[in-house]
Amino acid sequence: MSKSVKTYLKTAAKDYRSRSVNPPVVRASTILFKTMQELRKHQKDIAKKKDVEFWDYGRQGTQTTVQLQKLLRGLEEAYQVFLTPTGFAAVALSIMSICRPGDEILISDGVYRPTQKITDDLLKEFKVRAVWYNPNDFQDFKNKVTRKTKLIYVENPGSNTFEMNDLGKIVSLAKSKNIFTAIDNTWATAYFFKPLKLGFDISITSATKYYSGHSDVMAGTVAVNKKAYDKVWWYNHVSGYRLSADDAYLVIRGLRTLDIRLEKHQENAKKIINFLKNQKKIYKILYPYKTSSREFKLLKKYYSGASGLLSLIIKSKSKNSVYKFVNSLELFGIGYSWGGFESLAVYTDPVELGVRRYFKLEKNEHLVRLHIGLEDPKDLIEDLKKSLKFIK
Ligand SMILES: *Cc1c(COP(=O)(O)O)cnc(C)c1O
Repeated sequence: MSKSVKTYLKTAAKDYRSRSVNPPVVRASTILFKTMQELRKHQKDIAKKKDVEFWDYGRQGTQTTVQLQKLLRGLEEAYQVFLTPTGFAAVALSIMSICRPGDEILISDGVYRPTQKITDDLLKEFKVRAVWYNPNDFQDFKNKVTRKTKLIYVENPGSNTFEMNDLGKIVSLAKSKNIFTAIDNTWATAYFFKPLKLGFDISITSATKYYSGHSDVMAGTVAVNKKAYDKVWWYNHVSGYRLSADDAYLVIRGLRTLDIRLEKHQENAKKIINFLKNQKKIYKILYPYKTSSREFKLLKKYYSGASGLLSLIIKSKSKNSVYKFVNSLELFGIGYSWGGFESLAVYTDPVELGVRRYFKLEKNEHLVRLHIGLEDPKDLIEDLKKSLKFIK
């Protein structure tokens, strides 16, 4: 991330006193023009250039958000990156930019639950049909591509359940049929995997998670190639998404240590898995770690690493004892979200997962999601060891 200092200097003020190593936080709604003529000229330029780096009103951005966009363009190897107030707004922006009445969206079973909601519930009202495919089965995906498929939407690996798609095959098929492709890449981030380089048109990240990394801000990013740019620009323009300068600043701060943190999350996750895989009370670990598995092979094929989020399947006749396991963890907080510095645990109810078409939990199987934070892994293992005893 050190490149950012040089990038910043190139555009920095002439006066050295304004060249603090960090960009200023510029909060703005109104931007002042000297004359009406100057205002009109900028208005025309902005409409013509459709460039997110020209703005005449705070909704379109400020010097701070542009610094973040520059950093992310480099990291994602993108044509441009749009910023949204939450990660989910980035999902909504992507889908609404592409899908129109009469279209089909082909979507992997296993996407984030609110993403399921927007496709199944809202899009239906706009006459866009959601078609779900099994992420473990490329043939099933292939069979469901039709002449109406406008957007292929993937989340990889699957939310909570970690199914791995064969991303290269999906992208090639989409390209041969001129279908737009979007991926929610929040789990790996562009540090471990660059979707646009593989050929995706849109790469979505909840910056609330690893990009910011400290659980103190919400933001989303939509990185696009040239093909998707105009569509996303237009929808963004008419829908009013924006990221505040203060939040953009916090994401910039987080990005400075993205590489260091992710390497550590990965290393800690490996150590925890090495411990957990030998525990009788853990029936299964959902994470691409077994070298002989399909998931691991796909990870190696496309990713340079894996992050700190995984799930456990625990077999027990007593759901309360699994709750007790989670409740008695001292270093793992109980709560939503992830990607911050801290470890987290959350029990996900299979009934809630009932909306899934291909993932099933058998009777007496329980799913607990863990985010492995930056704590000392020895302490985390001790904590897990002590709490596993409660599972009956
Ligand atoms: C958290 C999350 C989102 C939504 O991000 P928010 O910033 O919480 O709105 C989207 N996709 C995935 C995979 C996520 O984990």
